Amino acid sequence: MKPVIAIDGPAGAGKSTVSKLIAQELGLSYLDTGAMYRCLAFRALDAGLTVQDGDKAAELMEDIHITFGVGEPQPVFINGEDVTTSIRTPEIGEAASALSQFTPVRQRMVALQQELVRGGGVILEGRDVTTVVAPDATLKIYLTASLEERAKRRQHEFIAKGMEAGFQDVRNQIEQRDHRDINRDDSPLKVADDAIVVESADRTPEEVAAKIISHLKAKLQ
Ligand code: C5P
Repeated sequence: MKPVIAIDGPAGAGKSTVSKLIAQELGLSYLDTGAMYRCLAFRALDAGLTVQDGDKAAELMEDIHITFGVGEPQPVFINGEDVTTSIRTPEIGEAASALSQFTPVRQRMVALQQELVRGGGVILEGRDVTTVVAPDATLKIYLTASLEERAKRRQHEFIAKGMEAGFQDVRNQIEQRDHRDINRDDSPLKVADDAIVVESADRTPEEVAAKIISHLKAKLQ
């Protein structure tokens, strides 16, 4: 069985960047579970739902087929439509965070994600992948950094994409999102019992990726 690496952690900890580096280095496929919640949020808002319409949003999932391409940024499609850029706005991030609180939404997402992980050879990241989606993963990592550090990184990402982003706004948004993810009733973000906590502050993504790969090698020995 090919390895499965599961990485959880709060917003802006560097999960995506690091996961993609590891995927490339080890020849694994990369599953961005947050992108799937963003796709649902995109479709829900498009259909005129509010972020309180959890049950209706979950029903929408029946008509949504999410696929990923290869590239940087990783192409994302809903029923063949390219939504790579549209799902990365702060508005969609907020809606994804709110809709992901609902159990019917989570149940459907988890079932889809488990299907994608079944064959192994995957690195996946999100907020519940070490605890719920892939509890039997070969290696489980909780990637984290201080709120200040993560807000700084997110702000730079927005600016690099040409979006306006004040530090305080970004910081507040991340803090709110963390609070929701950590305190929700259904599968809250937490450090799994057998996860290894890795700090991403003061390390380059390459250094973090190397550290995680060394943990994987140790596990496989
Ligand atoms: O990782 P990203 O910011 O793209 O995820 C968007 C939102 O989806 C997160 O703020 C989180 O609330 C939710 N999410 C989740 N479980 C996951 C991945 C993302 O609840 N496995």
